[in-house]
Amino acid sequence: MKNVEKSIDLGGRKLIAMRDVQDAVAAGASSIVTAANSVVTPSARDFLQQHGIELVTGKAIAESQDAVHPAASSAATGSMAVNRRLFSTPEAEAIKKEICSVGRKLWMRQFVDGNGGNISYRIGPNEVLCTPTLVSKYDLTPDDIGMTDLEGVQVAGSMPRTSELLLHLEIYKAVPEAKAVLHCHPPHATAYAITGHVPPSLIIPEFEVFVGKVAISPYETPGTKAFAETVLPYVKTHNTVLLSNHGIVCWADTVTHAEWYAEVLETYCWTLMIASQLGAPISQISQKQGDDLLALKKKLGLPDIRFDTSRMKECQLSDLEVPSAIALPPTPCDGPPRRGSTATDGDLESLVKSVTDAVMEAMGK
Ligand SMILES: [Zn+2]
Repeated sequence: MKNVEKSIDLGGRKLIAMRDVQDAVAAGASSIVTAANSVVTPSARDFLQQHGIELVTGKAIAESQDAVHPAASSAATGSMAVNRRLFSTPEAEAIKKEICSVGRKLWMRQFVDGNGGNISYRIGPNEVLCTPTLVSKYDLTPDDIGMTDLEGVQVAGSMPRTSELLLHLEIYKAVPEAKAVLHCHPPHATAYAITGHVPPSLIIPEFEVFVGKVAISPYETPGTKAFAETVLPYVKTHNTVLLSNHGIVCWADTVTHAEWYAEVLETYCWTLMIASQLGAPISQISQKQGDDLLALKKKLGLPDIRFDTSRMKECQLSDLEVPSAIALPPTPCDGPPRRGSTATDGDLESLVKSVTDAVMEAMGK
């Protein structure tokens, strides 16, 4: 029993999350008014129930009001408005489904464990669809996907956003052409990331064409702003970055393509590890042959920063900026330590051939 009845009006909000109800309870609310069309997250609802706080449904938020979230006027977002309508457009619904199917691929390929990994898509200038926290990527459903602004303030969705979103947002802000960002922990690529080695280039055509060059960023505690900023020196010039002692992050024009980069990198690292166990030196293709692959890539219309000579200079500079304590130059000798690695397929030749054939077939189209 409360001595004083106090109702707090949250009717202007489309999403009511844990923090909102905690604040309301701290302010002494005995009931909370919500808009008829607002969403109360499950954890917020549980919290209210546990504290005996009544939820009162008020009138719906008008569409015009709905289009701009309070976050839009916050100092953090400046004058950049949030278009909340984007969240339920046919395009958003299709992307939510794509995020779920890509999440399932990540889990099936053992690129994520537990609730690990996260996926996002920049659907508008200030709007990002993203996966929720604490959900296995295998179990994702379109209803789990939320939307935030570019500062990470959640503006739609019933589940709280991933805590790793800051990493994605730094990439979107630094690379305008990045539409999708994907973070995961594929074991063989992560093995490189924990040894501070980047895989050597000019070994397998598919990697040259789709990834081409991989950087490694220094370690910081995941989920922090400092961690998110570690990738900044590399993301303008690399679509795939190894995160020291952690995993990888890829960006692309679509969620599907970002996942392809993760697959290509993981297979490449795995193949190199198997090859390193054969005892024979790994042969590289020539720079000229590498250039031919790049020319084919251009012909296929696939984007690559190496087509842009001014950005290539930037790329070479950023390579020099790789912290020397954790990164070694990419040379064929830079294989990972043999100790601890696992060979699951001794038939290297057929593996390399099948990858090469797949690329050649793709290029022939
Ligand atoms: Zn992670």
